[in-house]
Amino acid sequence: MRHPLACRHWRVLLSGRTRRELGDNHPLSLNSSDGVITYSRGERSNRDTADQLRLLIASVTDYAILTLDVRGHIASWNLGAERIKGYRASEILGQHFSRFYPPEDVAWGKPDWELESAIRLGRFEDEGWRLRKDGTRFWANVVITALFDESGELRGFGKVTRDFTQRKHAEETRELERLREALHARDEFLSVASHELKTPLTPLQLKLSSLRRAAEKNPESLLADGKLSRELAAASGQVRKLADLIDDLLDVSRINVGRLPLQPERMDLAALLRDVALRYGPQAASLGCHLDVSASHAIEGTWDRRRMEQAVTNLLTNAIKYGAGKPIHLSVKVSETLAVLTVRDEGIGIAPVHQHRIFERFVRAVSDPHYGGMGLGLFITHQIVEAHHGTITVESELGKGSVFTLRIPREGLVATCGPTAVPRV
Ligand code: ADP
Repeated sequence: MRHPLACRHWRVLLSGRTRRELGDNHPLSLNSSDGVITYSRGERSNRDTADQLRLLIASVTDYAILTLDVRGHIASWNLGAERIKGYRASEILGQHFSRFYPPEDVAWGKPDWELESAIRLGRFEDEGWRLRKDGTRFWANVVITALFDESGELRGFGKVTRDFTQRKHAEETRELERLREALHARDEFLSVASHELKTPLTPLQLKLSSLRRAAEKNPESLLADGKLSRELAAASGQVRKLADLIDDLLDVSRINVGRLPLQPERMDLAALLRDVALRYGPQAASLGCHLDVSASHAIEGTWDRRRMEQAVTNLLTNAIKYGAGKPIHLSVKVSETLAVLTVRDEGIGIAPVHQHRIFERFVRAVSDPHYGGMGLGLFITHQIVEAHHGTITVESELGKGSVFTLRIPREGLVATCGPTAVPRV
């Protein structure tokens, strides 16, 4: 069979359906009452490409591709337009394209505004509701391109519309799911937070009422054997716990708005680790944990002292909570430009499935109510470490224990002279 381009005349065949749909006024249908367009050889190559393009446009069904005249009347229509909008070419050619817009959009002049925008910008893109012939709405992605000839005169518009209804529904379903999860997480958090706040509050209330009763009945008894000062010390311990919980909550909201100011200063991380271990020694001992500290050499760097202390405290108090009855090993050393601090316990460990999630806010990997907590300590610690341009990692085995390792540049904050903000999460 000879190649069509080798013929003196070549022919573009339109399917019966395509011809019917395009109608007699369609550019493809010119000179083609029998569905065959005949060109002479001289015109062939340009027309060949142009006709291939027209055929492609006419037969594409995933996109509504149409042209509008300069006033917005429909000049051409393809199969995709029929599929998406429901009109046949013979019904819609010559009509104004505003009939695809919902009445509220027509009322404020959206169709004309879109054409004006396309003229001004060359191209205009929009997503929104449009109407099908049967009056139902579909979610459309629309691109309108202004068509200018070589002399710069506006000749009309090209309009490509895609039906994104399914995608929109899928997005809405996902969004709804996200909202549901967020609501569930919020409710769960409120219940955990109220429980945690109540835990120190209840003994504090009991202590204060017993002190009041004693003061009313027998004030001298309070002064005997230093009872009053012991009771007050215990009460301020509960108040401190409450204040720590509230500080954690405040930190989370500061982190949420991207503000956790750092005050960098020259400091010794080994001394800080020893201080924290000394402060928590009695609490650790009361729960059967021996603290083994390896931090004899000074490790100087530029960090925020209060925040570093907070990070180390969070790791140590977790090790005491989840590793009660077993030794805890704390160490800090230098590796090139980094300070490497580890907190290792021999406690309950963390299942692999939870290990990557425990640094997220409100995430807890234990369900046993015996282990209190709001799931914020590691989240805040992670944020502090990141704000110092460092990393925090965990290695853990269920039933065997966990090692948390901080790797923090010693001079990562030197360039940051003044408060630093953590990135918004
Ligand atoms: P929480 O207040 O629940 O302790 P954290 O953010 O400090 O919150 O820790 C998140 C979760 O990570 C904890 O609920 C716990 O399941 C797990 N976890 C943290 N540290 C340890 C550890 N040393 N051993 C075992 N599990 C730990």
